[in-house]
Amino acid sequence: MNPKVLLIYTGGTIGMVQDPKTGIWSPFDFSSLLETMPSLRKLNIDIGTYSFSEIIDSSDMRPEYWVEIAKVIEENYNDYDGFVVLHGTDTMSYTASALSFMLEGLKKPVILTGSQLPIGVLRSDGKDNLINAVEIAGYKENGKALVPEVCICFENNLYRGNRTTKLNAENFNAFYSGNYSPLAEVGIHVKYNHHAILQPVESRGLLVHKKLDDRVAILKLYPGISQNTVESILAIEGLQGLILETYGSGNAPSASWFINALKHAIDNGLIVLNVTQCKKGKVEMGKYEASVELLKAGVINGEDLTTESAVTKLMILLGSITPKSKVAELLQTSLCGEMS
Ligand code: ASP
Repeated sequence: MNPKVLLIYTGGTIGMVQDPKTGIWSPFDFSSLLETMPSLRKLNIDIGTYSFSEIIDSSDMRPEYWVEIAKVIEENYNDYDGFVVLHGTDTMSYTASALSFMLEGLKKPVILTGSQLPIGVLRSDGKDNLINAVEIAGYKENGKALVPEVCICFENNLYRGNRTTKLNAENFNAFYSGNYSPLAEVGIHVKYNHHAILQPVESRGLLVHKKLDDRVAILKLYPGISQNTVESILAIEGLQGLILETYGSGNAPSASWFINALKHAIDNGLIVLNVTQCKKGKVEMGKYEASVELLKAGVINGEDLTTESAVTKLMILLGSITPKSKVAELLQTSLCGEMS
């Protein structure tokens, strides 16, 4: 029996067409996308399809859409061996991160892919990306999925989704995973990096988290950031969690107004999670004097979490876990390979 893969189409460049008059790219419908790819049938994988009713540019991605994707996977979980999500590259790392936290106990591949050039364009990277993703989603060894994780398959690399970041708006090689090696490399053969792949707990079934709390914000530091800017963000009504994007290994200005503002917000229940602006390496609060005060104020160490992972993890934990002390504890625990 052929493996079965469900293709979930959300939009993105992979399925876009160019208006001959204006030159503007916009999404087109799924049936046309499959027509351009007759070679997919040669994979000996049975492909089912699900399309968003409204095809989007991934700049319009929202938590409600993550819930829709997660629900589709949940409803079809027993009928398919794997899932491929076709998605725009702009926010693909956010969606992959969100899904990795939403799909607790996942034992089947969920592979996100897309392309830098639409699939109908002669030199498109979309064809290879799609074929690779479908093949990996349907691949098993000894009757078990080899990659039971949420991944991004792009330009001959398979990455753990929650470790990625979109780094390049031009090259085919759009994604970067600075703190974790690829799970597979696609050449003549697909070379799986077995020791890097998550091993699920066999006894656990799939548990889908569908509640997300979007009362979070990201504050990226820069030299010259004003007291007014910082205090305005901290004063956002109802704010529950803040990702603080700091310098280097977690450093921030030492000005007392800055530290006091953070401490005051944390004392009033705000969760502040420290991640670095660097694409490789991790936060080590206390290493430099410039981060000792953050630690004392109660800022949480985000280690080597990407911003994409940090913000989605925070939304999902705040949506489903109480009290806040438990959220803080889980933020510092690797739930699905998102931290080293
Ligand atoms: N703007 C597009 C999107 O993210 C870019 C792409 O797909 O590469 O939907």
